Amino acid sequence: MPEPITIGTATAKPGEVARGGIPIMGDLYGRPREIPIIVYRGVEEGPVLWLNGATHGDEPEGPFSIFKALAELDASELRGTVVAVPVMNVNAFIAGTRGDPLDSFSYDMNRLYPGKPDGYPTDRVAWSHWLAMKDNCDIQINIHSGGEHSYLAHMIFASDNPPSLELAAAMGPGWSLVFRSGTGGNNPSSQMGALGKGGITVELGGNCRTLTSDFHAIADDLAAGYLNVMRHYNMISGEAQYESAWRMGYQIPLLAPATGMYVGAADLPFETEVPAGTLIGQIHDLYGDVIGEVRAPQDGLIFGMRARPSVIEGHWCCFFGVVEETAANLIP
Ligand SMILES: [Zn+2]
Repeated sequence: MPEPITIGTATAKPGEVARGGIPIMGDLYGRPREIPIIVYRGVEEGPVLWLNGATHGDEPEGPFSIFKALAELDASELRGTVVAVPVMNVNAFIAGTRGDPLDSFSYDMNRLYPGKPDGYPTDRVAWSHWLAMKDNCDIQINIHSGGEHSYLAHMIFASDNPPSLELAAAMGPGWSLVFRSGTGGNNPSSQMGALGKGGITVELGGNCRTLTSDFHAIADDLAAGYLNVMRHYNMISGEAQYESAWRMGYQIPLLAPATGMYVGAADLPFETEVPAGTLIGQIHDLYGDVIGEVRAPQDGLIFGMRARPSVIEGHWCCFFGVVEETAANLIP
């Protein structure tokens, strides 16, 4: 039997589920504050998997998909441990914004992680999360989407080390786009990679797809990936499934050439290769004239698109990917 595990204020014995929090700063009501966490401790040894949602507060796909995945888990049959953090950045989530609006100095938690103990407010929240996770985690999935401005199709940014690429492949069917994102960068996955562990950032959804059945479908899709990961690492029973090959490369942000209203081209396919020059979107002025176009700069694929039409010159319009390599060997 494994020992009990303690993460933050939550202690889970084998076969138990514990709820608690990672303590962060206080608030004006005089209460201590915590990042809520849920810990499933299995009855046999196995990996410790962290599921981290809502690093960005306008990305509710993380918490919803975590809730769905946990509903399928039984700690008394689990091997290893699942630590779920539905919402890393609680203030940002309450506000429905990318960062904490109360923190005007360190806004984007996914650009400053792991933060620092004596830094700005979001630095301190990130640091508390990192202290709780870094020595108690083998594999980590950080869940993102297009948030309030964009839609993102299935995409994985994997730390560039073998454990992270294996973790990416373990997400299973539908997750064939895997781009390397380096190690040691200022986000949780990259920091895990720097420790030689597995860390991936998965992207799917956006506020344009958070309505009723569509939101459920997005969250089910993500949750299926986490459960496939657990099957791959033998944490739960069942056969993991895999893509037959993974498309790897890099992204080119396509930015608005003009200020106006951005409209993506009709019937544009996501996650499918298109030739150089393909019309991706147009920008209209307020008289209806087309004043700018976004086209594929080379052969590649669209894995995300601006969903909020109003646009300022220089804003992100399209998440464009260039596939350099098709890998068939991400699983050792
Ligand atoms: Zn995000």
